[in-house]
Amino acid sequence: MTGFSSFAELCEHVEGVSGSLQKIDLVAAFLAELEEAELAIVPNLVMGVVFPPGSDLVMGVGPSILYEALGRACGCSPDTISNMLRATGDPGLVAEQLAQRRRPIGFGAFVPQDQLSVIDVHRRFVDVARASGRRSQDIKVKNLQFLFSQASPLESRYLARLAIEDLRIGVGEGGVRDALAKAFSTPAGEVERGYNLTNDMGMVAVNAKRGTLTDLSVTINHPIKMMLAQLGEGIPAAMAEMGSAAVEWKYDGARVQIHKDGEQVRIYSRRLENVTSSLPEIVSAVGQEVTAETAILDGEAVALGDNGRPLPFQQILKRFRRKYKVKKLAAEIPLTLFIFDLIYLNGRSVIDLSLTDRRKLLSEICGPRLLAEQVVSDRPERVEEIYQSALDGGHEGIMLKNPASVYAPGKRGKNWLKIKPVMETLDLVVIGARWGEGRRATLLGSYRLACRNLESGTLLDVGWVATGLSDETLAELTEIFKDLIVVEKAMEVELKPAVIFEVAYEEIQRSPNYSSGYALRFPRLVTVRDDKSLEDADTIDRVVSLYKMQRGRNSTA
Ligand code: AMP
Repeated sequence: MTGFSSFAELCEHVEGVSGSLQKIDLVAAFLAELEEAELAIVPNLVMGVVFPPGSDLVMGVGPSILYEALGRACGCSPDTISNMLRATGDPGLVAEQLAQRRRPIGFGAFVPQDQLSVIDVHRRFVDVARASGRRSQDIKVKNLQFLFSQASPLESRYLARLAIEDLRIGVGEGGVRDALAKAFSTPAGEVERGYNLTNDMGMVAVNAKRGTLTDLSVTINHPIKMMLAQLGEGIPAAMAEMGSAAVEWKYDGARVQIHKDGEQVRIYSRRLENVTSSLPEIVSAVGQEVTAETAILDGEAVALGDNGRPLPFQQILKRFRRKYKVKKLAAEIPLTLFIFDLIYLNGRSVIDLSLTDRRKLLSEICGPRLLAEQVVSDRPERVEEIYQSALDGGHEGIMLKNPASVYAPGKRGKNWLKIKPVMETLDLVVIGARWGEGRRATLLGSYRLACRNLESGTLLDVGWVATGLSDETLAELTEIFKDLIVVEKAMEVELKPAVIFEVAYEEIQRSPNYSSGYALRFPRLVTVRDDKSLEDADTIDRVVSLYKMQRGRNSTA
C-alpha cells in the first residue's frame, strides 16, 4: 500500500523542478508503481482534483473550514493562522509550519500514531464530501482535523492544498496525460480521448494499465467534455471555408449537458458540475418532450424575459448556483431549454456520426418546443439574415457548424464557428492592486480599475482585472506600480492613478459592488496604454452607453 508520505514526497519533487518534462517523468515513474485501487485516485490528486467532475461527491471545503480544522489540530488561534497566511500566501505552507510547531503535551516532538496511506486519505475525503445537513461543517472540520493530527509537516502541506483542491505543483491535464502515456507505453492521443469521454483520469489510468483504453466510450450519467467553438472571422470568410453550413442562433444562456436515463434526468453545467437540483423545470421539460429511453443531449438554458429577450447572464448564474428555495427562484427566473445536439441514444454513443445524422436522430426524439432551430444553407445572404434575427432577438450571434463533422468532445475546432459582434475595449485607470498568492506573493496579481466621472472629477471603480496575465507581465507591471503605492492594507494596495489599461471584456453588468454601479464580466488586459494619460481614460458615460448598446437586450435586471 502506498503511503501518503510517498505521495507528498512526489509532490515536493514535482513542485521543485521547473521543466514540464521533468515533472512528467517523476509523475510517470510514480504512477507506474501503483496498485489499481490507488491508480483510480492518484492521477486526479496530482491535478489537485479529489473527485472528478460529474462525481456525486463534492469536497465542499473552503478556506474557513480548512483553517478551523488546522487551528483545532494544531491548537492555534484563527489570528495566528491569518498572520501566517499574510506572510506566505499559501495555505499549504501554513499547514506545514503549524505541523512543525506542534508538540503533543508531555512529548518532545510530534510522532504520528499510524502511517497514513493514500487510500486512507481518500476515504476521509469521501467522509468530508458526504457530510450533509445542519452539522455538515462540523463533520467536515472533524475529519480534516483527524487527518492533520496524523500527518507529518510535509504531508500537511499537501493535505491542506488538496482539501481546497489547489495542489500548486504545476501539473494539469496535459501533464497527467503524458505521464500516463509514458507509464503505460500508450499513445497520448488515446489517453486524451479516454479523458475527454470520461473526465476521470483515474478511470483512464486503470484502463491504460489494463490495455483497454480504446474500450472506453460515452457512458450515461458520466458527463463528457463539451464540444467548443472557435471565433469565426465574419460570415463571408466562414462560409467560404465551410461551404454549406448548419446555422443556429448562438443563444445567450448557459450550456447544459443532459443525461436522460429512463425516468431519471441529470443535468451538468459547462464545468460538468451536477446542477440537476437547481433546474427542476428543465428536468420536467426533458421528461415530457424527449421520447428516447436513454439519451445524452447538448443544449443551452436561457432565461427569457416577458418580452422574449434573454435576461443578463447573472440571472442565469443565480439559478445554477441556487441550492435552497429553488422553486421560488425558478418562478422568478424561469429557464427555457434549447437542445442543439445529441451525444448518446438508446444505449449507444452517436458522437462518431455526422452532425446531419445526429440532428436527424435528435429531431425524431425531441419535441419541437425544445429543439433549437437549424437552417442548412450555402448562401451568405441567408446566413446574414439569420445573424440579424439572432441579434434582434437579443442573442449573442450565430453558430456555423460543419454538417459533416463528428461531435469532438473537449475540442475547440473549426467545425463550429461562432459569429458575434466584436466588443469595444475600454481604457481604464488603475487605482489599486492586490498582492498575489503562493509563488506570486511578491507580485501584484490583480488590478482595480476605474472610469472617470467628468462632472465630479472623481474616479469610479468598475472591478478588477486579474486572469490571463503571465508571471513575466506581472513582474513588469509590479515594477511599474511599485513606486505608485499610496497605502498598503493587508493584501491590498491603493495606487496613485497614473496608468491606463486597455481592457476587453465579455459584458458590462450592473453591480452594487462598485462605485460606478457597473462591473465588467471576464475582463482581460489588452495592453498598458503608455501613450494615454488620465485625461484620455473612458468616462462613466461611455460605460453606460456601451452597457445600453449590448445587443439591445434587457437592461432592467
Ligand atoms: P463561447 O462561450 O463564446 O466560446 O461560445 C460557445 C458557447 O455558446 C457554448 O458553450 C454554448 O454555451 C453557447 N451556445 C449558444 N447557442 C449555441 C448553439 N446553437 N450551438 C452551440 N453552442 C451554443
